[in-house]
Amino acid sequence: YRGIHAALIISLVIAFSSWLRSLKRFKGKREKAECLADLIGDTPLLKIRSLSEATGCEVYAKMELCNPGGSSKDRVALAIIKDFEERNLIRPNKGDVIFEGTSGSTGISIAMLCKSMGYTAHICLPDDTSDEKVNLLQMYGAVIEKVKPASIVDPNQYVNAAKNAADAVTNDSSSNINAVFADQFENECNWRVHYETTAKEIWEQTEGKLNFFVSGAGTGGTIAGCSMFFKQNNNSIKTILADPQGSGLFNRVEYGIMYDTVEKEGTRRRHQVDTLVEGIGLNRITKNFSQGEIYIDAAEKVIDKEALLMARYLMENEGLLLGSSSCVNAVASARIAFKKAKKGDTIVFIACDSGIRHLSKFWKEALKYDVPSDLRDIINT
Ligand code: PMP
Repeated sequence: YRGIHAALIISLVIAFSSWLRSLKRFKGKREKAECLADLIGDTPLLKIRSLSEATGCEVYAKMELCNPGGSSKDRVALAIIKDFEERNLIRPNKGDVIFEGTSGSTGISIAMLCKSMGYTAHICLPDDTSDEKVNLLQMYGAVIEKVKPASIVDPNQYVNAAKNAADAVTNDSSSNINAVFADQFENECNWRVHYETTAKEIWEQTEGKLNFFVSGAGTGGTIAGCSMFFKQNNNSIKTILADPQGSGLFNRVEYGIMYDTVEKEGTRRRHQVDTLVEGIGLNRITKNFSQGEIYIDAAEKVIDKEALLMARYLMENEGLLLGSSSCVNAVASARIAFKKAKKGDTIVFIACDSGIRHLSKFWKEALKYDVPSDLRDIINT
């Protein structure tokens, strides 16, 4: 009887704890949100059945595209704005302005939160930014300043233009408007929010049973914050940088060197990455990347063709319309699954944004390829 009692008690404990866990998992979705910011984070993990079956691993996407502004940058924008508020640098509904230099998702997240939280977003971007993105920023009510494309060393480059514009308002003694520069590349709120939220969520969602984490780096905030968290919690988790063609980070991580792959000093392309993929790849070391660099185990180089084929493969097999950087991460994950992982290992990659923002460039190109029937045809193993 003692054995039966013990088995009964153990199964009751297991049933009770899984019930508690299910309550916790759905809590956020059941409650009413008081503001848009409350909807940021707690994104789901989606099992990618096709990649899992083809590789024998458990492959999951962290669905950052489920954030209300459509990307992981919502977390960063919110963390930066809250930090400014806590330091009393901005006050809601007083006309205060948040400046940022970006041609990507961060501008959209900042613009959305500015409208929601009572600020003005002023976004500087190169004048050849795609109409899709400019239109979206316009819809979110941002002030848009287009500048001539230039190298990061040029004071008129769009990131520098945003900083200078914020400084000009701050230094104008006749103005009673406060201005701040969000500075996603150097602002350490960026990696911290990924450490405190993105990584922690993945840790809880996988119940700590994670073997590989895969992410690209645009500012470096995601990979830095997540890699630091995972390594501190379980040193055997492998963190992998997925790097698009034209980026210098692969050589930096694998060989400790950074070739300046690009062109002549003074041209715009000097610090830009020559790829169809948007949002990831770097040819300089940002403060956010450097915070997590020591925690990155390896890098996988992904060429555009592989990412384009993966886009088609995931749409065909999963109904998933992913953005370009997510497809780079998926290619790197599949390669890791074939090359480095053991059967049954859990691999999580970041699905940063949806393909909706990439229709005119990346997806237009992807449609030129046939849907690959075999995953191994995509991965250049
Ligand atoms: N994917 C997309 C679409 C992005 O916009 C970004 C940010 N530039 C990233 C990935 C990379 O994230 P992080 O800046 O944290 O390195």
